[in-house]
Amino acid sequence: MKSVLMASGAVAFASRFAIKSAHALENVSVIVVGAGIAGLGAANLLRKHGATVTVLEAKDHTGGRLLTDWSMGAPFEVGAGWIHGPSSDNPTKQLADAVNARYAVTDDENAVFFDINGYEYDEDEVERIVDAWEGVLEHIDGTYEVNDPRSLLQAIKDYRPAYLDDPGIMWAFSAFTEFSKGGAIEKLSAPLFNWDEAFDGADVVVTSGYDEILNPLKEGLDIKLSHVVSAIDYSADEGVVITTDQGTFEADYCICSVPLGVLKANNIQFTPELPGSYRDSIENLGFGSVTKLALKFEEPFWDIETQYFGITTEPKGRWNYWLSYRTFSDENILLGLSVGDYALTADRMTDAEMVEDALDVLRTVWEDDVTEPIDVLATHWATDPFTLGAYAFPRPGNRKSDFDDLGEPISDRLILAGEHTIFDYAGTTHGAFMTGLRAAEYIIDEEG
Ligand SMILES: Cc1cc2nc3c(=O)[nH]c(=O)nc-3n(C[C@H](O)[C@H](O)[C@H](O)COP(=O)(O)OP(=O)(O)OC[C@H]3O[C@@H](n4cnc5c(N)ncnc54)[C@H](O)[C@@H]3O)c2cc1C
Repeated sequence: MKSVLMASGAVAFASRFAIKSAHALENVSVIVVGAGIAGLGAANLLRKHGATVTVLEAKDHTGGRLLTDWSMGAPFEVGAGWIHGPSSDNPTKQLADAVNARYAVTDDENAVFFDINGYEYDEDEVERIVDAWEGVLEHIDGTYEVNDPRSLLQAIKDYRPAYLDDPGIMWAFSAFTEFSKGGAIEKLSAPLFNWDEAFDGADVVVTSGYDEILNPLKEGLDIKLSHVVSAIDYSADEGVVITTDQGTFEADYCICSVPLGVLKANNIQFTPELPGSYRDSIENLGFGSVTKLALKFEEPFWDIETQYFGITTEPKGRWNYWLSYRTFSDENILLGLSVGDYALTADRMTDAEMVEDALDVLRTVWEDDVTEPIDVLATHWATDPFTLGAYAFPRPGNRKSDFDDLGEPISDRLILAGEHTIFDYAGTTHGAFMTGLRAAEYIIDEEG
């Protein structure tokens, strides 16, 4: 399955530049629900093949989970922050290169780590923690079957139970794994969480602003903002009917790229209801959160040469990883992350509560040197009604096909797209983009 998807993504991406026939879909109309990178990628490719495309987006802006806020003077990435594996074959990197984006490599080695009392771990201790974390991943890789029903937490317990009482090691599982997968180790599938694919290269942030990469995709598109889709009727032999709070739309096909959280909440009524296997996958896949909090200070009170600060916290996941903007901008900004189940708690705090909670953590290290921030930006993805979480992850008992099969066309008229419909690159911008291209290709093939 993987090779088919990858080949499909690569071919589709190439065809952005070499459209076989700009008139192939001249008499075909498509409604794309959702103006994130998946929806815009699909709409752009279809438009280039001559289709009449309308994009319906609930929010008053495009981008979805790819959105840059410049109000602090440096880019605050509300959703995606890094291009993971920015090799030349990464579709997101290609989009970024096409707009002459500027990058800064982030360096996981440029980090210092603190224990629960705010004391810096020495090199030996850091090595012990990282070795223990890697050892568990290797053990799972080497001994687990793909359908093993255990969670990552259970896997740690079965292999090295003492790790569960070791705050440093548990910090690593939270700050590294819960962050990258968007779910608590209690809820992650032990065999599947680490078996997805990745492009090569050290991660980069986009210092010119990540969401700029969407601009070429939007060119010439009919994007209707502030149109909340409540129903998709695909019961007729031909055509679909989409109901929004601004009226009804009809087309030959619909690509629905709303996030997994929106599908889980049944906020869109499908007629007929989605087939049972789709409903099961939607219900069973994991969808947690990651909370970001940017604190801007008058003056830095931290070492400005250091890029990351890891702080061991209770409960696990509470503001345990910090990125200093001073390593790639002039702004005195610390970006804090809450992950795992704590992100679900943090998302429900007011901004003021969040700031107090995060400052408390910073004070364990920098004590009275911590000043009041002069500006704050916070995210609340779990309570955003048009997202309801961060990104999809495999739960115990899931299969890779729970992701991939969601992207298979439903009744030839309706196709789902989005980061949750591709196992190998779930939870990334490039994965989401590839699913948009894949959905568009189904229609191009069908009509071709
Ligand atoms: C906090 C966070 C950090 C992340 N970090 C990274 C990272 O560093 N690197 C990386 O590659 N990826 C990262 N990701 C993941 C990445 O952002 C997503 O995988 C990707 O942007 C998803 O794109 P999408 O098009 O599938 O969905 P979305 O971007 O969510 O687009 C779906 C669109 O549907 C709209 N919608 C929802 N409901 C309706 C409705 N009823 N009617 C009409 N429209 C509707 C939404 O408003 C949204 O615009 C991160 C995500 C988050 C939340």
